[in-house]
Amino acid sequence: MSNSPEIGSRTRTRAIMEKYGIRTKKSFGQNFLTDLNVLKNIVEAADITANDNVIEIGPGIGALTEQLAQAAGEVLALEIDQDLIPVLKEVLSPYDDVKVINQDVLQANLPELIKKEFKDPSRPIKVVANLPYYITSPILMNLLASPVEWATICVMMQKEVAQRLTAKPGTKQYGALTLAIEYQMQAKIAFDVSRKVFVPAPNVDSAIVVLTPRTNPLPVQPFDKQKLFGFIRGCFAHRRKSLWNNLQSVIGKDPAAKEKMTTVLNQLDISPQIRPEKLTLEQFIELANALHQQNLL
Ligand code: SAM
Repeated sequence: MSNSPEIGSRTRTRAIMEKYGIRTKKSFGQNFLTDLNVLKNIVEAADITANDNVIEIGPGIGALTEQLAQAAGEVLALEIDQDLIPVLKEVLSPYDDVKVINQDVLQANLPELIKKEFKDPSRPIKVVANLPYYITSPILMNLLASPVEWATICVMMQKEVAQRLTAKPGTKQYGALTLAIEYQMQAKIAFDVSRKVFVPAPNVDSAIVVLTPRTNPLPVQPFDKQKLFGFIRGCFAHRRKSLWNNLQSVIGKDPAAKEKMTTVLNQLDISPQIRPEKLTLEQFIELANALHQQNLL
């Protein structure tokens, strides 16, 4: 291990940025974390042990990567900014079992990378990241669509997005993103993080969200997962309008369709006047399945 102060300290971050002439790039969502307590708490929230393989998205100059390297079996870090690769190679050189590759996570074939890059790919795979906020949802959707069984996904994001991920039905944060996560994972906010601990400081506060696989299976399965989520997004297109109005936009207004929709809502005991955010995931699945049976979806 190196004798220098840890990368995530303000002094070392400044020194590294100065030495390599690094100017953060807004286009890549670069806000470097400079608080060792927060960094260590992230590793703890992710419950990283020496038996884990970690994928880190966006290592930046390696502040979180260093903490992960000290706790995990192996770390694979994917960084889109090629200018940071030589910096990462050098500052992380004291650590074995850390690989950094120049890779856009949204273009990555994750199962292949896991097989190729980890010495022991059979260990639990955990994702840990201080996410680039401009692509938080696409990254999460990609991770969930991937066939990899993530043991944990522990990621920092804008606080408002964290609240949407963990929202309860009936709240204004509850929506299509909440339901897409709930379909596969249990989400909880581990802790909030002030904007002041980043260089440069973003203009939003942040939170750490921990996602773990659902332990209780869904009581009903959708007729088609992709179509279910297309339907749910359609139902939330006009949040202030009733479910009925949204259904008309999704399904159409012809009298025969309206009659079938009325029957389905009656059967499921769902009021047409309810707002979409009041429906649970199970209710959305039941509704989509019933509409499909009526050839409406
Ligand atoms: N992990 C570092 C930290 O905590 O200080 C940096 C976090 S910074 C918020 C986000 C990082 O993600 C940046 O290093 C940025 O270059 C990288 N990044 C942005 N878009 C990316 C993408 N599509 N794939 C991989 N990395 C990306």
